[in-house]
Amino acid sequence: MWGYFCLLAFFLILLVELVFYIVVAGTFEDKACERINAICNEAVREVEVNPDGLNKTIFRYRSEGVNVYLLDGDGGIISPSDAEALEKEALDANFLQMIKSRLDASGKTDVFHYGMDINLAKQVNYKGQTSYVLVTYSLKIVHQTVKTLQIYLIIVGVIVLLVSLLVTYVFSQKLTRGLKSMSDTAVKLAEGDYTVKFTNADYTEMAQLSDTLNYVRDEVKKSGDFQREILANVSHDLKTPLTMIKAYASMIKEISGDNKEKREKHLQVIIDEADRLAGLVNDVLSVSKMQSNIEEINFKVFNLTELVYGIINRFGYLQEAQGYTFMVDIDKDLYTRADEEKISQVIYNLLGNAANYTGEDKTVYISLKSDLEGKRIKFAVRDTGKGIAKEDLSEIWDRYYRVKENHQRPVKGTGLGLNIVKVILQNHSFDFGVDSALGEGSAFWVDFPAVPAEIEIDGQ
Ligand code: ADP
Repeated sequence: MWGYFCLLAFFLILLVELVFYIVVAGTFEDKACERINAICNEAVREVEVNPDGLNKTIFRYRSEGVNVYLLDGDGGIISPSDAEALEKEALDANFLQMIKSRLDASGKTDVFHYGMDINLAKQVNYKGQTSYVLVTYSLKIVHQTVKTLQIYLIIVGVIVLLVSLLVTYVFSQKLTRGLKSMSDTAVKLAEGDYTVKFTNADYTEMAQLSDTLNYVRDEVKKSGDFQREILANVSHDLKTPLTMIKAYASMIKEISGDNKEKREKHLQVIIDEADRLAGLVNDVLSVSKMQSNIEEINFKVFNLTELVYGIINRFGYLQEAQGYTFMVDIDKDLYTRADEEKISQVIYNLLGNAANYTGEDKTVYISLKSDLEGKRIKFAVRDTGKGIAKEDLSEIWDRYYRVKENHQRPVKGTGLGLNIVKVILQNHSFDFGVDSALGEGSAFWVDFPAVPAEIEIDGQ
């Protein structure tokens, strides 16, 4: 990480220097070329208009560092008359040759470099003779200035680089230290230590990551606890009916074999316990199938009213044998589109819970009503039991969750029923929920989409 930071700092500084060189140095030279072009044109005009006043024109530009000469055909300096020996030297034969070779059709050269100067020349007619106006501009100062600036830039660059190395080193150390400690903690968590705590408040994102990892830890712990609990529950729940089945089978064999009444009673216990076992195994299977998304939803249109009545009838034994009352308020022929088998499981689980947890009056209220001007069907099942505390409301839908000690009858379930309901309804994207308060009973509800009866075609 530190290496990348350094590389980035280095490239940024290089970029700044390059931009400086290309933009500043290049622009400066371009501007100088434009200027000497303009001066050359002006000097040529002066030579043609006022040949004797030329000195004045020529001197005018000296303050800008620009020298203007009028040369005769052999390279001798006609003007300025005070040309220094040094200047004369510069204008040697080679130089004149160079000017002549660069003249274009209009008698003008392009801007060309000679030594440290940039030059421009134009052929003119001076008092009947072929002469040349030569404009030169020394880039020496520019070069020197650019060089000095470059040195400063390099010094500044090195300082910036060193500072950025230091700063990035400190930051990267801090960052990697945080990441490393998190990764060490994660390894401990992976090894099964749920007491670990992810802490890092140096950076907002890292703090968020810490929170998320702490959340993951809690969830993993919860899930581990759940698994252990369900294993204990399921093995206990499996053991009880199996023991009962064995005991009653032995009883039939040894005691009640010839007594029809007793035998029937004992056989019924065996059947009930076998049913209980089958229900339990089915629940566990449903949950694991749904969790691994093995089961698909087979949507089709069906008569929900009939389905609900059918399920109520399955609870007939509770009404006949145990004095339960199922109060119904169900509209006729309501059709919905869903997976019939799964919805049947949802309603069965909700009715079963209501019966399990209802109050002394052993009454369960079931309603299925058309809602939202026929667009929706509202199913609700209400009991008169102890209700569910606010803090438990959101958790009852979790796998293996059981509120402690609110069971009216000996509990048959495993804490999987409502989780099955939740997963099925979520897979259908149907709204569902529960309204409950302690001491007031609970009402579980589901909203089904209503569809017209006439489109009742299998496979839709
Ligand atoms: P269980 O098999 O234990 O009934 P569920 O998943 O069906 O499991 O329900 C989870 C828990 O929610 C139950 O253990 C119970 O404590 C609570 N619960 C469910 N339905 C009701 C209800 N109608 N009234 C009160 N509590 C309920």
